[in-house]
Amino acid sequence: YSEFLREPINDTTGVTIGQIDSINKALRPVLESLTHENFFKIYRLNLFKECPFWDGEGFCMHRSCAVDTIDDWEDLPLIWQPEALGKLESTAHERDHIPNVDLDDETCIDAISTNDNYCEIDEDDCVYVNLVDNPERFTGYGGEQSLQIWKAIYNENCFQFGHSQCVEKQFFYKVISGMHSSISTHLTNEFLDLDTKEYGPNLKQFMVKVGDFPDRLQNMYFNYILIAKALLKLDQFHVLDDFTLCQDPELAQKESALKDDIRSLVAPFHDQFGSDSYARLFDERQLFQDDTISLKDEFKERFRNVSRIMDCVHCDRCRLWGKVQTTGYGTAMKILFELDGADNSSFTLQKTELIALINTFDRLSKSISAVGRFQDLYSTEIVRE
Ligand code: FAD
Repeated sequence: YSEFLREPINDTTGVTIGQIDSINKALRPVLESLTHENFFKIYRLNLFKECPFWDGEGFCMHRSCAVDTIDDWEDLPLIWQPEALGKLESTAHERDHIPNVDLDDETCIDAISTNDNYCEIDEDDCVYVNLVDNPERFTGYGGEQSLQIWKAIYNENCFQFGHSQCVEKQFFYKVISGMHSSISTHLTNEFLDLDTKEYGPNLKQFMVKVGDFPDRLQNMYFNYILIAKALLKLDQFHVLDDFTLCQDPELAQKESALKDDIRSLVAPFHDQFGSDSYARLFDERQLFQDDTISLKDEFKERFRNVSRIMDCVHCDRCRLWGKVQTTGYGTAMKILFELDGADNSSFTLQKTELIALINTFDRLSKSISAVGRFQDLYSTEIVRE
């Protein structure tokens, strides 16, 4: 493990796993507190959107797969009230039957629409969900159903355009694999013990899903530096300065404090790497160098399809967190590849995107802490044997 800590996360910048571990120790309490704030813990999404790709038979019926939505707008914290007023929709929903799509290993899903985002943002029929009350953990979702979803997600990495797709394909794969590792780490860190009926870490499950695969672990750290770089860029180009978190003027002081908290997330990176931190974390200029327009458009479309596939996830709780995280990664990519420091005027960021970005960073941060704890459990097991 000590060798693993010295491993560089990507070849170009040389940031190591150990350096990120120590940064994460400083960031963990800040993220923990930020994601418990009313602004960040309420997520607005369409949880019951039609799966656009295939028939969603066989829903997970476990209680642990369910999500408690906020059905009365008076239950929403003040910071959300003007936003929520008049916008709560019924959560009742009927799924229409749509034809099956053959998903063999060679088949790409066709792109279905175009816009500038890297993920699909829900606009209609949204519900409000308290993320703290609906934690990401073991739900029992698995078997053929979840395998079909993961296969469809990985199959999106089949680009048609461009001559130098290698870097972009590799990047796309790392992001998906890192997200998959983080989801697996969460569900094994809060695994249901059938005897005690309590949730807790399950070392064996962690090892078979993530721990025995250094590349899967490394991809999770890769995603961490990706999101960190997006936050550094937001800070560098002062994007948050004109951003409205809430409309209520009485909450102006709160808004300013929240923005300071978001800005403070970059401090441990500056402490570790000094003035070099912007260049050290991740160099987005290495992507989309050739054939830029068509390859980038296709990349966006493929990642948007990944976010649409989330509507096909059969388990509500898994779908919720899948949607949060694909939106978080889509937002990070939008910041990295579309925010031009020289001219910010056309760059827009929605509340949902900022909330997803911070919560996705928190997911990765919690996963990385859990890896440390699993390492301790592993050492104890070895000593015992
Ligand atoms: P899976 O995790 O299903 O993996 C399938 C195959 O993918 C593996 O056999 C392996 O070949 C490959 N693979 C696995 N990990 C990686 C990686 N990191 N990088 C590259 N390849 C990999 N379950 C819960 O209990 N709680 C949740 O919150 C939850 N959220 C989910 C969200 C989504 C979007 C999806 C699709 C599934 C979710 N699941 C959740 C289900 C969970 O991810 C697993 O599918 C399930 O636990 C079965 O795991 P498995 O060991 O069979 O392999």
